[in-house]
Amino acid sequence: MRFLCDEMLVRLARLLRAAGYDTYLASGGEPDTGLLKLVREEGRILLTRDKQLAAAAPESVLIEGRGVEEEAESLSRGVVLDWNFAPFTRCVMDNAHLREATLDEIDRMPASAQAGQGPFRACPACGRLYWPGSHVRRMGERLEGLGAPLRPQA
Ligand SMILES: [Zn+2]
Repeated sequence: MRFLCDEMLVRLARLLRAAGYDTYLASGGEPDTGLLKLVREEGRILLTRDKQLAAAAPESVLIEGRGVEEEAESLSRGVVLDWNFAPFTRCVMDNAHLREATLDEIDRMPASAQAGQGPFRACPACGRLYWPGSHVRRMGERLEGLGAPLRPQA
């Protein structure tokens, strides 16, 4: 499953990327025709707050609610998501696949991060470094919170 988020859904796009989903985020001012073309060509599910735009796409989910949790709930009503799909394998900023960090990069991480067990990752596109620090932990907790109601009952 791949997604395309409209420009209003920045935080939802980051959350999907944190879960490992390939998510294109529209930048402001990108024309709807261009977005719809991308959706068709790349087989992406369009996520949008715009009813007209949603209706024009072959596959779309109309996103409602305030804040990223409600947006994610809204999305969960449209598609079955696994928030533990492939956590922290993509850069939340630009969607690139993360690679293992080099020793030099690990050296540049805070001492508290280096003392941990990793995984230590880096974005090949923007150079951002990822480790199981506060940001990743907070995102992880959020993903787990969202994942709980989606898990099959034992
Ligand atoms: Zn990046």
